[in-house]
Amino acid sequence: MADCIFCRIGSGELDTAVVKRAPGLLAFRDMQPVAPTHVLVIPVEHLSAVRDAKGEAGVALLGRLLAFAAEVASDLGLDAGGYRIVSNTGRDGGQSVDHLHLHVLGGRRMTWPPG
Ligand code: 5GP
Ligand code: ZN
Repeated sequence: MADCIFCRIGSGELDTAVVKRAPGLLAFRDMQPVAPTHVLVIPVEHLSAVRDAKGEAGVALLGRLLAFAAEVASDLGLDAGGYRIVSNTGRDGGQSVDHLHLHVLGGRRMTWPPG
């Protein structure tokens, strides 16, 4: 989608701090980090949110995306301390970019419930 910021990052049109790539997937630093480590993990293909990943291909993509997020967390040294993987969805979820993404947050103690 031409007007989607994460599509433009995923295609390489916009420069960003890339952390890791896998076929069809990209991890990059959030531009407004809310934790010492804050990485976004996206499929290059545009999907609006987890709920739009349907059918066999959608389920496979979600599995690869989640496993990739865990790999990124491990690469960044978060396994020992732990971390949080979050996908904000829609208005009440606090989603501000309508391109499926997982936040990988770590490096500090998270609180629960979230705000
Ligand atoms: P959401 O609010 O949709 O869950 O998360 C969107 C995230 O994308 C926010 O944490 C925001 O800081 C980040 N973000 C928005 N635009 C850009 C951008 O152009 N580059 C990077 N690296 N992060 C972005
Ligand atoms: Zn997009």
